[in-house]
Amino acid sequence: MNPLARRIARTIGMSGPLPVSAFMTLALHDPQSGFYASREPIGAEGAFITAPEISQIFGELLGLWCAQVWQDQGCPENPRLVELGPGRGTLMRDALRALRSAPAFLNSLEVVLVEASKPLEAIQRASLHDADVPVHWARQWGEIAQNRPLFLLANEFLDALPVRQFVMTERGWCERVVVESRGELAFALAPLPVPLAISADRGAPDPGAVLEISPAGETLVEDVSRVIAAQGGGALLVDYGHTGRGFGETLQAVARHLPVDVLARPGEADISAHVDFAAMAESARRGGGQTAGPVAQGDFLRALGIDIRAERLGAADPVRAPDIRSGIARLTNPNEMGALFKVLAVVPPHALQPPGF
Ligand code: SAH
Repeated sequence: MNPLARRIARTIGMSGPLPVSAFMTLALHDPQSGFYASREPIGAEGAFITAPEISQIFGELLGLWCAQVWQDQGCPENPRLVELGPGRGTLMRDALRALRSAPAFLNSLEVVLVEASKPLEAIQRASLHDADVPVHWARQWGEIAQNRPLFLLANEFLDALPVRQFVMTERGWCERVVVESRGELAFALAPLPVPLAISADRGAPDPGAVLEISPAGETLVEDVSRVIAAQGGGALLVDYGHTGRGFGETLQAVARHLPVDVLARPGEADISAHVDFAAMAESARRGGGQTAGPVAQGDFLRALGIDIRAERLGAADPVRAPDIRSGIARLTNPNEMGALFKVLAVVPPHALQPPGF
């Protein structure tokens, strides 16, 4: 066991088995050894690479999407642009640069970055030190006063929120927990079943079926939607995930771009779960907002004109043109990120259909 696993094992010894969600929170955010708290997770040297790190056009198009939605709503005053989990700050830097072509929106913006990780916040501050607009940081979404039209971007954020898992047994739904067994962390089932209200469209669970839910993600999306419905604005939630209801588990760990055991070395691997977009869209509607999508990332980016933008960039910089083209292919091809990744938008109840859907 590594030091964080040993500490988790001691906690389990003192206060009992941990739900998967509690394990995930410690593995990602433990202040000493958590994956996000203690290392540089993103990029060629990190555990994984993300769309804004692959192509500058990704952030540019998401920024311009916000400006278009703002205009469609009659340019409401004092808009706030929030990004959840901004990573290295690349998406926001690209978005703000592209928004120089929409100065009326850009110049009225306040930007807030929601980031739990101190090392990543430091990288974001460096990346955005010369931003054209005021940029603030918050540790959590809940710290932001919600008194303005809200434009919200989140790329690969929802997948990092802790999930709970329940397994169908003869006794009913039992929560999957983490225990210590023979000197290792291991999965087990809580003995007592929990009465769960499962929506009928998931179908009937077979014995052994796993239900994976993201209470934190659902609450957050409902809340974002409530603000957008009341104040105006729009949200784009981009992540890998699925749209069908049903059962199954997707919890995974990745270290240096390769899959690893979820429990083996907490803090050294990224742990995430596929986003249940049907559940997120339902949460958004519960919050009072109107949803668009989810659609495949490739379709969304093409509808926003990624190919034309790539051609122009390539023509201006022929040396980089092949790299630009291969980046776009990676983001849009169905066998790369184009289909697994989905985009869900939330806008106010009577707003125009947002671009890209
Ligand atoms: N959006 C970025 C980074 C994705 S990685 C990109 O596309 O490159 C996930 C990001 O969310 C990291 O910045 C991580 O530190 C942050 N994060 C994860 N869980 C969080 C939480 N509960 N609260 C705030 N930020 C969180």
